[in-house]
Amino acid sequence: MNFDALIIGGGIHGSATAYHLANAGIKALVLEKDYVGRHASGVNAGGVRLLGRDLAEVPLSKEAMTRWQTLDQELDTDTGFRRRSLINIAIDDADMGKISSRINQLAELGYDHEVQINQQELRERLPHVAPNCVGGVVSEQDGYAIPYKATSAYRLAAERAGVVFHEGESVQSLRQIGDNWQVKTDKATYDAGILINCSGAWADKTAVLMGDNVPLSHSAPMLMITTRMPHFAGPVVGAISRQLSFKQFENGTVLIGGGAKGFADRDNNRTTLDYKKLALAAETTKTFFPIMKKAVINRMWAGLEAYMPDNLPVIGAGVNARNAYHAFGFSAHGFQLGPVVGDVITQLITTGKTSFDLNSFRIDRFERKVL
Ligand SMILES: Cc1cc2nc3c(=O)[nH]c(=O)nc-3n(C[C@H](O)[C@H](O)[C@H](O)COP(=O)(O)OP(=O)(O)OC[C@H]3O[C@@H](n4cnc5c(N)ncnc54)[C@H](O)[C@@H]3O)c2cc1C
Repeated sequence: MNFDALIIGGGIHGSATAYHLANAGIKALVLEKDYVGRHASGVNAGGVRLLGRDLAEVPLSKEAMTRWQTLDQELDTDTGFRRRSLINIAIDDADMGKISSRINQLAELGYDHEVQINQQELRERLPHVAPNCVGGVVSEQDGYAIPYKATSAYRLAAERAGVVFHEGESVQSLRQIGDNWQVKTDKATYDAGILINCSGAWADKTAVLMGDNVPLSHSAPMLMITTRMPHFAGPVVGAISRQLSFKQFENGTVLIGGGAKGFADRDNNRTTLDYKKLALAAETTKTFFPIMKKAVINRMWAGLEAYMPDNLPVIGAGVNARNAYHAFGFSAHGFQLGPVVGDVITQLITTGKTSFDLNSFRIDRFERKVL
């Protein structure tokens, strides 16, 4: 079977890339070894966060944020997106100092989306915050979406535009023959002009098959969700110097993250929870919000995520093969970038360029031997 483009991985980035390619008239096949949204893209915290982004990511993240505001209409499906301010709480003067210098740094680059707030403003926005918290930083445009819904929304929009998705089909080998790629899976062989690696926590394996060698690691960030509680937090909440992260949904449940990691076994698609770390994350939440002492944890889970040594993704063309592209390594903050990365890859494929500076995301920014 022949396709213009073949995408390996049916997470949010594979699905969104397929959608943008189809809109540009490129016929794509997405191969997904499990099912679309099975891994990080379907089970993450849904945080749509511009606040605190690495400076290299700010332009992409700002563009993604603009697109999230109207994504439901664009994809004609509910992604669960809700715009909510995101506040990172400061507990002392040192935290407030970090906020000021970050805001100055952003201002020098022409950005004004992060705003410092004092103790009174913090309390007005979050009346239940602990009295020792002294202020914070807020980004007004941020929010959250429902990960499985958003990933499926891209998949459905892509299918309507003519993209073919094959689930339960794992790519096993890749071979470049002339300008074309021959792709062998556990079920069939395909020919494609262009190959795109959106393989998430397995992307280093796919990259090697494409001739590119990257120091990707993988891990299992964990989440827990409470039963319904009285409404006490409108904004999404984080902290400057503590592992605190939670959001309260409209139904009252509270999703708690914070970056604690469990144990990852990507070869068997398995994660194992580390309950001690989860207990610590729950403790931190109670320290900042004493009302959370009444919380009842309903469910806990983890997902397999790809991390790069500098916590920045790989986005752009491959270096050791023609007609090869990568979008992976999102290091626990790739969901928010869903609306923009696939479009950037499509621009690279159709025009050879993009208005975004992708230098920090090059696959060859690490010292690795060419295979
Ligand atoms: C618990 C958790 C919380 C998170 N919270 C947030 C958050 O709040 N905000 C945020 O922005 N980000 C968050 N993230 C990160 C975000 O989920 C990821 O960065 C993003 O979903 C990555 O998308 P992806 O498409 O690159 O990867 P994935 O969703 O992992 O998709 C890759 C797919 O490729 C498939 N695949 C791999 N190899 C092959 C092969 N050989 N053949 C066929 N298919 C293959 C896999 O099965 C997988 O489905 C979180 C992640 C986790 C795990």
